Amino acid sequence: MSQIKELLVDQIKDLLHAETQLTGALPKMADAANHPKLKEAFAKHLLQTEGHVERLKRIFQLLGEKAEPKPCKAMMGLVAEGEETIEEGEDKESLSADLSLVAAAQRVEHYEISAYGTARNLARQLGAMECARLLTQTLGEEEAADFLLTAISQPLLQQASLDDLGADVDLETVGVSAGEKKPTPAPRKKMANRN
Ligand code: ZN
Ligand code: FE
Ligand code: FE
Repeated sequence: MSQIKELLVDQIKDLLHAETQLTGALPKMADAANHPKLKEAFAKHLLQTEGHVERLKRIFQLLGEKAEPKPCKAMMGLVAEGEETIEEGEDKESLSADLSLVAAAQRVEHYEISAYGTARNLARQLGAMECARLLTQTLGEEEAADFLLTAISQPLLQQASLDDLGADVDLETVGVSAGEKKPTPAPRKKMANRN
């Protein structure tokens, strides 16, 4: 086997193990998510991930190799962190819990984006263009999943900021009787100083 083919097969064995683990982890993430949009995103990515496993099997076929997984320790660690995030989220506000889930999921997506980019490069160098095309499709879906998570986190972050501002309002000084001026929100600058 050529060196490059060997490298490619090694990468997709790792990816096969990584993606298979994710098909087990994503339903738990969907379960733990509070916001319906986040739940939906995890559920949708589960379906895509099942497709990623199928594509990898097709790539093994095209290369004339057996679809054998090789333990991906990095994904095992990321999945373990995801499980930790789910457990910790049970004692958190739903917003914080969701934002932590997004953080855990984006680490996973970036790991995959990196692995698929490398695998595609190897496939191109090998002249295995059908494999490269399949890898590009999956890479695109991983990138889209990452963008979607960023988009979903935006309103959650804004809400968390508002909640933080609300927590800063001192009821002693703003007055609670009717007719009093509504408290003006604290200036944004204050946020940066807090933490
Ligand atoms: Zn994937
Ligand atoms: Fe790995
Ligand atoms: Fe993914």
